[in-house]
Amino acid sequence: MTANRSAVLHRNLRVDPPVAVRGDGAWIIEAGGRRVFDGCGGAAVSCLGHSHPKVIEAIRRQVGQLAFVHSGAFTSEPAEALARHLVDRAPQGFGNGATMFLGSGSEAMEAALKLARQYWIEKGEPSRGRIIARDMAYHGNTLGALAAGGHAGRRAPYAPLLIDVARIPACHAYRGRAEDETPEDYGRRMADALEAEIAVLGPENVCAFVVEPVGGATMGCVPPAPGYFRRLREICDRHGVLMIADEVMCGMGRTGTLFAMEQEGVTADLYVIAKGLGAGYQPIAGMMVCETVLDAIRGGSGALANGHTYMSHPAACAGALAVLETIEEEGLLEAVNRLGARLRAGLESRLGAHPQVGDIRGRGLFQAFEIVADRGSKSPFPPAAGIAARFKQEALAAGLLCYPSAGGVDGTQGDHVLLAPPFISREADIDFVADVCAATLDRVLDRAAA
Ligand code: PLP
Repeated sequence: MTANRSAVLHRNLRVDPPVAVRGDGAWIIEAGGRRVFDGCGGAAVSCLGHSHPKVIEAIRRQVGQLAFVHSGAFTSEPAEALARHLVDRAPQGFGNGATMFLGSGSEAMEAALKLARQYWIEKGEPSRGRIIARDMAYHGNTLGALAAGGHAGRRAPYAPLLIDVARIPACHAYRGRAEDETPEDYGRRMADALEAEIAVLGPENVCAFVVEPVGGATMGCVPPAPGYFRRLREICDRHGVLMIADEVMCGMGRTGTLFAMEQEGVTADLYVIAKGLGAGYQPIAGMMVCETVLDAIRGGSGALANGHTYMSHPAACAGALAVLETIEEEGLLEAVNRLGARLRAGLESRLGAHPQVGDIRGRGLFQAFEIVADRGSKSPFPPAAGIAARFKQEALAAGLLCYPSAGGVDGTQGDHVLLAPPFISREADIDFVADVCAATLDRVLDRAAA
């Protein structure tokens, strides 16, 4: 018998993670009482922290009344109310649109890819089967979503299982903009790569273009260049290609607006949302469909070809509705902008001149800094130095949970630290995050050099 070995299949088979037993606002309390500040919301999930009474009560009430019904037989009051709440606040063209609720961002991403494909079949253009996505994107870990993703390291082990997704470069000014290029010219150049790829594939074969409005987990909070999305929208419209905005990480207020794309002044045809939607109180994601796409399906087969058991889960929908209501009632979008500016200023003042920090970027409470071996050449540390992994351990030891990642430059090289604190954080918490990051970086670099 191996009684002291965990029977949970943890991500790391050599080290069991500490046991978390309780949440207290933006703090997580471990068995033994140690408090850790959740500086990344897990993975940009816990926007309301871990003990919000309104959300807890909404879920408790719903489970007491009706925990589950199968969406093939019934709808439920929370699912209806949540969908109405979202479409009422959604971008233009979604007023008569609809939302499907699923269990995870990956599942919602799969649903979006399949719905885009179904749209073209219903429209009588079955040759439109190709998806275009961007290098270094992250769209999830199920096979379809992983195939759309562009992170070489994450894709490599599963390569034989992945569908063939066409790819264009990401818009990443720190890494890609030429010195003599304006941000606008760079945005246009990157967007025009989509048009070039559509020409290669033939527009009659292209189904959809998938894009994160603010590049998240793999690249580290990379905002688009000015005009990039307007140009992408023009190109999609010109060739009848659907635009799928993956707002799983950057949506639901994280960047300061409910939908991250609002800040680009254009609308996608499908939105994929998750993480902050349920704030971690229940697993939930959404796939939002605009009127035009929905009308084609309504006027065609009238039925979705894709379904899952836990779609529109009533308890999850009740929790998510309470989350979105709380964001409005407590003025949390304003808080995201105010605290986000404080976090950015805190990082700039502590790390802006650091010789091993190449870039500080992001929007709202979605900020990252990139660690480099040489600031002039932007060259990363060798992957074997394990900078991101060391940073995570050192920060945790200092009481801060953050989200460092490796491979952000090309899928194997590069280190950045992503920060996504809860919207309910206090100013002192935000300063703590910046302080711990600065101290941790020096400790990590000292140890790496030793
Ligand atoms: N899309 C983006 C942009 C993400 O950041 C993630 C997760 O990090 C996903 C999709 C997949 O979501 P999930 O992990 O809930 O399946």
